[in-house]
Amino acid sequence: MPPPLQAHRMLLSHRVRRLREAGAIVVGKTNLDEFGMGSTTEGSGFQVTTNPWDDSRVPGGSSGGSASAVSARQCVVSLGSDTGGSVRQPASFCGVVGLKPTYGRVSRFGLMAYASSLDVVGCFGSSVFDTATILSVIAGHDKMDSTSSSHDVPDYRSDLASLSLLESKPLNSVRIGIIQETLGEGVDAGVISSIRAAASHLEQLGSVVEEVSMPSFSLGLPAYYILASSEASSNLSRYDGIRYGQQVSADDLNELYGNSRANGLGHEVKMRILMGTYALSAGYYDAYYKRAQQVRTLVKKSFEEALGKYDILISPAAPSAAYKIGEKTNDPLAMYAGDIMTVNVNMAGLPALVVPCGFVQGGSAGLPVGLQMIGSPFSEGKLLEVGHIFE
Ligand code: GLN
Repeated sequence: MPPPLQAHRMLLSHRVRRLREAGAIVVGKTNLDEFGMGSTTEGSGFQVTTNPWDDSRVPGGSSGGSASAVSARQCVVSLGSDTGGSVRQPASFCGVVGLKPTYGRVSRFGLMAYASSLDVVGCFGSSVFDTATILSVIAGHDKMDSTSSSHDVPDYRSDLASLSLLESKPLNSVRIGIIQETLGEGVDAGVISSIRAAASHLEQLGSVVEEVSMPSFSLGLPAYYILASSEASSNLSRYDGIRYGQQVSADDLNELYGNSRANGLGHEVKMRILMGTYALSAGYYDAYYKRAQQVRTLVKKSFEEALGKYDILISPAAPSAAYKIGEKTNDPLAMYAGDIMTVNVNMAGLPALVVPCGFVQGGSAGLPVGLQMIGSPFSEGKLLEVGHIFE
């Protein structure tokens, strides 16, 4: 197990300061996979967080502690980071609301970098309204993060409060596309039927719901793992035992770097650094990193096209509900495959909201399933509005 030193990804940050200034009471820090690398929270430097719906199951990850805390009603809202799905997948596994904002909507200042071009700070809430409240506070430009956007921050909370849900067809002008490729092979039947039921509900409320094909969808997963690992290998080079990280004594400088990194970083983190270094090395760059960047452009374009026709695209947030602790720890590829629904959204920099939409069998009370709603850049208000319908 890696030491706890690097387990927290979020330092006292811009967002926590803004929340405190707005009157929030910060009750604690939550558990996560080391550096945000993982999908179960089992890769934490502390201990394994369990899923409140069934404590033999994972809460998802990497921000599993934040999702679990809201799900267990230990707090009303929490923050997490989403580089490839770490807010949305745990929200789905724990039956809470999870929002991944547009890239740049929220400052990353104080967040330990994993993959800087994909990293976003997101939030969990026990309701869409609470999630909107938090977003209103943490969104906006920050001079300490040059990638944070100056785009206007609407009052998401008041906008939601002023909606009338009494109309019989509140979604009359909303066009919704179901991403065909997300409801096929490899996705649990119970998840598919929950998403289809949610789509019918949206249709009954007045929206036009159609299937849309995005053939490049499945290319996103391998491209994501190449890009995220490459960026991580560069970002984590600062953990040399001198500038950052745990220092292990040694006879000379090289040994100090080596020992400190060997000792201070966990297994999954080392694996990602090795993968990323390999993908970036001379001779392999064109075959891996460059091709992955090309796939990223393709993914972006296909979202642009689909979002030209539809206001919102929907899919499951994960191919299954929460699985058993330990089930995938020895099979990293199976764990990576579970990120298929979420990683494309980060590659395109888009906002996405996950709301609980159904249950599948499992545990004593069933296990929650989350619906992912994806929108155009800075359309968080629209996503929250439609998500609000589900509560
Ligand atoms: N599970 C993905 C990964 O390990 C996503 C993690 C994240 O969003 N922080 O890279």
